[in-house]
Parts: sequence; C-alpha cells; structure tokens
Amino acid sequence: METLQRLTRRQLEALRVIATAPSRERGVPLNDIAAGLRVRAPSALAHLGPLEELGLISRFRGKSTVTRRGQACLDEYRRHHRIAESLFARAGMTPAATHQAALEVDLALSHRTVQEICEAEGHPRECPHGEPIAPCSGRSSSAGS
Ligand SMILES: [Zn+2]
Ligand SMILES: [Zn+2]
Repeated sequence: METLQRLTRRQLEALRVIATAPSRERGVPLNDIAAGLRVRAPSALAHLGPLEELGLISRFRGKSTVTRRGQACLDEYRRHHRIAESLFARAGMTPAATHQAALEVDLALSHRTVQEICEAEGHPRECPHGEPIAPCSGRSSSAGS
C-alpha cells in the first residue's frame, strides 16, 4: 500500500500544518499543531505517532518537522488532488464541485491510477482553479509537439 493510501484525512492535515507553520524550520510545538487542526493537544498528538512511523515527520524535544519523505508525500498529494479535479471538471462539474469530489478520492487513488488519468486527460498543466500540476514522466515524451 502506498503512503498516501495509508493516511487518514486528519493525518494528512496534521502533516500540512507542520509543513506550513511559521516555526517549520525549527520544529513545530504540539500546541501549534493542535491550534492549526482546531483540536486539543491530545487529539493532535494521536496523529503524530503514525506520521513518524511512516517517516513523514521527525520529532525532537516535543517539536515536529516534516522530513524529505514527508515533503515528497505532500507534493504527491497535491498531484493526486489536482489530477482528480481535472477529471471531474471534464465530467462537467464546476470548479468548486471538483474540489469536493477530489477530496473523496485523492488519498485512495494509487500513483498508477493517477498516472493513467493524467495521460487520458492529456497531461493537464493546471487544475480547474489554476493551481499548477507538476509535470509527470509521461509528459516529456510528448514535449515539442
Ligand atoms: Zn502526465
Ligand atoms: Zn484545484
């Protein structure tokens, strides 16, 4: 099972909070993570163990930082989400609706499935909201045309 497929939505949100906190370079204290998630500290703490076990964050003296692997996971997540949005947009949904629909599937899709959608959609360069989609390995083969 791929890393994204093993994450819950709340664990992913915790990872994003840690990645974007003002203190991300020095390590994010538990209270800041809890505030970012709008939950109490014990609830936030429950998400950190699984993230650490997956190698997505490291913890030192109560502070959390996102690892290189964690950053790659967030990049991958954005790709899954935006590719799914592109698919739903072509199905006729409004941009706002594509976002909600993508949230239903983005963690569950395998990289292989995302790749197949990307190819079927002609390697979209941005999502319906204009956010960039990182180039995939397949796009370079069609470059120059
Ligand atoms: Zn592609
Ligand atoms: Zn979008």
